[in-house]
Amino acid sequence: MAWDFDVGTDAPVVCPCGDEHCHPVRVRVNQGGRITNVRYASSMSEIGPISGRGTSIAIEFFCEGCGGTHFVAYQFHKGRTYTGRAPGVPHSDEQSIRGPTTLWRD
Ligand SMILES: [Zn+2]
Repeated sequence: MAWDFDVGTDAPVVCPCGDEHCHPVRVRVNQGGRITNVRYASSMSEIGPISGRGTSIAIEFFCEGCGGTHFVAYQFHKGRTYTGRAPGVPHSDEQSIRGPTTLWRD
């Protein structure tokens, strides 16, 4: 599957600080408390709190501008999918001077 996007006209992800240089560092899927986290070097499952009646999918971004992370999240609920934002979490296990490792880059 390939996405059809145009770097000249499509909007990039923007950090709450306003910077557009956001790196995807984690994908987190919560299926009724069964949580899967995909990072650069690992994929891990855990049991955690239920995020709502349906699945939630969150992508965590590291911002070059402010050095913080934030999530862009999607929550399925009764036939609709809603989107929102949340603050990121510390990445002490993989934090470096350049922030968490980007999922992939060339
Ligand atoms: Zn930022």
